[in-house]
Amino acid sequence: MTTPEKETSDFIRNIIKEDIREGRFGGRVHTRFPPEPNGYLHIGHAKAIVLNFDVAAEFGGLCNLRFDDTNPSKEDVEYVEAIQRDIRWLGYDWGDRLYFASDYFEQLYEFAVQLIKEGKAYVDDLSPEEIREYRGTLTEPGKESPYRNRSVEENLDLFERMRAGEFPEGSRVLRAKIDMASPNLNLRDPVMYRIMYVTHHRTGDKWCIYPTYDWAHGQCDSLEGITHSLCTLEFENHRPLYDWFLDQLGIHHPKQIEFARLQLNYTIMSKRKLIRLVEEGHVSGWDDPRMPTLSGMRRRGYTPEAIRNFCNRIGVAKSNSVVDYGMLEHAVREDLNARAPRAMAVLRPLRLVIENYPEDRVEEIELPVYPQDKSRTETRVVPFSRTLYIEQDDFAEVPPPKYRRLSPGREVRLMGAYYVTCTDVIKDEATGEIIEVRCTYDPETKGGQSPDGRKVKGTIHWLSADHAVPAEIRLYDKLFLKENPEEVDEEGADFTSNLNPNSLEILTNAFVEPELANAEVESRYQFLRHGYFCVDPDSRPGRPVFNLTVSLRDTWAKISS
Ligand code: ATP
Ligand code: MG
Repeated sequence: MTTPEKETSDFIRNIIKEDIREGRFGGRVHTRFPPEPNGYLHIGHAKAIVLNFDVAAEFGGLCNLRFDDTNPSKEDVEYVEAIQRDIRWLGYDWGDRLYFASDYFEQLYEFAVQLIKEGKAYVDDLSPEEIREYRGTLTEPGKESPYRNRSVEENLDLFERMRAGEFPEGSRVLRAKIDMASPNLNLRDPVMYRIMYVTHHRTGDKWCIYPTYDWAHGQCDSLEGITHSLCTLEFENHRPLYDWFLDQLGIHHPKQIEFARLQLNYTIMSKRKLIRLVEEGHVSGWDDPRMPTLSGMRRRGYTPEAIRNFCNRIGVAKSNSVVDYGMLEHAVREDLNARAPRAMAVLRPLRLVIENYPEDRVEEIELPVYPQDKSRTETRVVPFSRTLYIEQDDFAEVPPPKYRRLSPGREVRLMGAYYVTCTDVIKDEATGEIIEVRCTYDPETKGGQSPDGRKVKGTIHWLSADHAVPAEIRLYDKLFLKENPEEVDEEGADFTSNLNPNSLEILTNAFVEPELANAEVESRYQFLRHGYFCVDPDSRPGRPVFNLTVSLRDTWAKISS
């Protein structure tokens, strides 16, 4: 699907190459991306998606999409749909291989019955608290449940009645009978089924016992013929358990390989916490442009290509590390620099009147759409007239040192148009606020070039006041103030105490070029001298809304060069 910049190599691909060489799995490569539909996908998931789909494609294999929908109390069809939308947007296709763990509930039940019959699983009547107490700790062995040695017949009968809905929630569970003294806590008779009277988004009320993730996951991989189960490091300790289940059942045994999760500074990625940001109204929704979700990044203007490049560049490793957010922004800038059409936007307007320019004249200034790309010749036309808007920042009545823009008596270039010299400043009599700048222009400098070779220090952008289109512009900053949002200053505080109160600034009095009046939602532009912007779905005809995707300043490129 993607064309990596160079052939990627990492420890996972090396293992797979070795497996193919040895003829393991008949030389097949089959991976899967297994999200739990309990939230929207975030940039960490993108790392796993890119890895699973790219690896499969590189080795001529397949990648499934499987929803691990074993916990109906937290799941929702809204998430199932959003996840598919986001994976497609990222550029991946699972063909006809869309699966749900819930499709295997009957088979998983049969597998459990098989283990019971072999004396390898039992129904336990201990309460959840007791199970926890009996489990022991890393330094102390666990204690066996008094129900551990029930007969196979009794276990079969009780398990069937659990399924039939004869017992209240929490009263009984099915557990694997492994080893309560194992140094690996996951092997201390893990729970396989719990009773939950919850309607499932796919199976409805058919089931009141649900498999745990640990019991379902490995068997689902096996049933789908997965060859390489790529998962994150926290499942390393679960691998012996997954191996145990597969070996006891004697079914196809995928190879599990763990890699480090993506962590980004200034970002949280736990879905549980992202849900809180949404539900507590800290953001406008899962697709708020400040969210680290794929839908948020999409709305913000990040491109799928940039996200995929970023994921390939950070690579996969076996040890955890935190990636600088600037690296993601660098990938976005790089992609948009090459592709985004250029336009002018005035975010905080100040009126500029050219005293010697005819009242009713309108000139059409032709400017390149892709000045960064010499091979492209497309142009756009921007009207120029006597009254313009410039940025408030581009005028200083008393210029600070090194100021290269407009100030009284100074000449600057209006980008692609003319040289103008500031002659006067008009202020609001009551407040003293500057409301207008007066200038004269040099008609000989058309196109922003002086025939006499006269140089100006600054070039500023502009819009014709009568033609500019009013726009709303949303500026974003980091959602969290701390590199590690989990690091809190006060006892009892949580990550929400590190939210940046200034992460969103809305400019309602901005203007853009007339051509952008009805710009298509999700189209992206470089507003010259400002940054990259993306058209928001809140736009209305004649009144576009733009999100700041990323500013022009690239801190990461500087650091890394
Ligand atoms: P979260 O902690 O955000 O809720 P999760 O692991 O519970 O994440 P799942 O829906 O189970 O979310 O994840 C689906 C797949 O994505 C899993 O294989 C998981 O390992 C992978 N994944 C999740 N977060 C990351 C991450 N930060 N980096 C890389 N892979 C990830
Ligand atoms: Mg999970």
